[in-house]
Order: sequence, then C-alpha cells, then structure tokens
Amino acid sequence: MNRAWLHSYSLLTAILIATAASAQEWKSGVEWQEPPVVTPGREVGSAPSDAVVLFDGTNLDAWENGDKWLVEDGTATPKQTAIVSRQHFGDMQLHLEWSAPAEVRGAGQGRGNSGCYLMNLYEVQILDSFENQTYFDGQAGSIYKQTPPLANAMRKPGEWNTYDIIFNAPRFRSNGDVEKPGHVTLIQNGVLLLNHFELQGPTSYVEAPHYKPHAEKGPISLQFHGDPVRFRNIWVREFRQASGVRVSAPFNIEQKKPAPPKEPADKPDEADPGDDAAE
Ligand code: MG
Repeated sequence: MNRAWLHSYSLLTAILIATAASAQEWKSGVEWQEPPVVTPGREVGSAPSDAVVLFDGTNLDAWENGDKWLVEDGTATPKQTAIVSRQHFGDMQLHLEWSAPAEVRGAGQGRGNSGCYLMNLYEVQILDSFENQTYFDGQAGSIYKQTPPLANAMRKPGEWNTYDIIFNAPRFRSNGDVEKPGHVTLIQNGVLLLNHFELQGPTSYVEAPHYKPHAEKGPISLQFHGDPVRFRNIWVREFRQASGVRVSAPFNIEQKKPAPPKEPADKPDEADPGDDAAE
C-alpha cells in the first residue's frame, strides 16, 4: 500500500466514522400494537398454539360431508363428494399435507387430482405432478387455469407433500367493484411456488375468471376428483394486518451519548454500557 493511498483511506475512514457518529436515529411516529405471542408447534409443520385444527388424523367433524370420506391410519381420503370446512376464514395461513396415490394410475389431470379451494372459490391445484405432464397452469401448485407454479417441487407418489398457503382475501366495495383482489403465496415442501399471486377471480373450468362480490370470509373446501389422494395435518391461522396509531410525524431523535465511565476504564475491550442502539 503506498503512502498516498494510505492517506486517502485513512481520511475516508475518518469521514465515515464522523458521519455515523452524527447520524440520528429515525422513528416512524407510529405507536404499533404488540404482535401476538404464538407458541410454535413442536416440529416444523405441527399446529402453533393459536391454530384452528381442521384435521388432526382422528375425524372430519370440522367439515361438512366429512362423514363421506374415508378416515384411517391418521389420514383422510376423498370419497363421493367435496368436503367443506364448517368454519369460515378470511385472510389466513393454511397448512395441509397431502400424498398422491402410491399406486400410479392415469395420466395428466387424471392422476392424483384433488384441490384446495380457498373461500370455496379459488383453487390451489393438488395433482400428482411427479413426472406427469399436463398443462402448466393445471399442475400441482398452480392456481388452476390462472398461473403455473414457479417450480415443480413434487415428492414421489406415496410420499407426503406440505402446502403452506398465505391467503389475502379479496375486498369488495359496497357497489360490488373489486377494491382489492385476492392474493396467494404458496410454499410446497419448503419451495416457493406462488409469490403473492394476484387472483383474477374464482376458478372456473368453463369460463374466464372474473370476480363476483362475496362475503369477507368463506370456507375451505377439498375437492373430490375420483382419485385416492390422502390428506393429513390440516390447520389454519387467521391473521390481521399489523396495526398502530400515528402519534406524531416521523422524526429523528438525538443519538444518546455514551455515559461517562464511573471508574477509570481498565477493560478497554468491554462493550460500551451507554450504547443502546439496535438495528
Ligand atoms: Mg383439482
């Protein structure tokens, strides 16, 4: 390192230190509500303390038509008809696990097909997409006929897949216009498939999607498509947007100066007790 460069480097360092020392902490001026305390489940995927459990492996009492499906060995398998959750949900985090039939039968849309309908309207596709070609906006993790997923993260038939869905329900004005469309984020087996995808309307097989106004909350339904897809561990957490009250305009506060040492410093490496800055 030559001397001129060393001098420039030292000068720059001194300027940066001086700038940092004179910077003042910025505050938003909003008094935020405390986020709720939630105890996570024991293992990844198990229900947190505030979750509504829709299926824990024992029965489908939380669902209309639940008695029509087959519940055995802690799993539920579609029979005869769709099931519809008795409880209605708006904005929510939904966890479910599903397994395509171990015995592979059929192809394309005819292989391991089911679906998770948010508000009983918007289908997140469930399909055995492991080495199974079909139209991309109809494969596992698509919003059926609206968008393909960002990836194919399927496990093999017979193995368990997780779906973690973040759903922001659409909002409608009193005249029926869309105030805010719905959005879906989906993670399958830890892989992002849908990134805050803007729903175009309810899922339809026969027409282009378009919104019709509906209630703020609706049930979840699981599709019967004739295939023995198995389900387990289904739970929901409703959430609210973070909220707070503005108590002032945003402002900077004078940075607290380190308190003078009470005793002569004999441990120069010790953390400065007056430094309470956090980022
Ligand atoms: Mg389906």
